[in-house]
Amino acid sequence: MKMRKCIYCKEYTFKEICQKCNRKTINPEPPKFSPQDKYGKWRRKLKLGE
Ligand SMILES: [Zn+2]
Repeated sequence: MKMRKCIYCKEYTFKEICQKCNRKTINPEPPKFSPQDKYGKWRRKLKLGE
């Protein structure tokens, strides 16, 4: 079973329908990368280049 999220009340639930809003929940996907990681990579690259 996967965690789902209601975009209306922002509550996490395992159900396909939010019991609070009675609306369909979504399956939130984890972000593929975080902007902070990207900058960290750049910083490392710049340091290596020096
Ligand atoms: Zn809801």
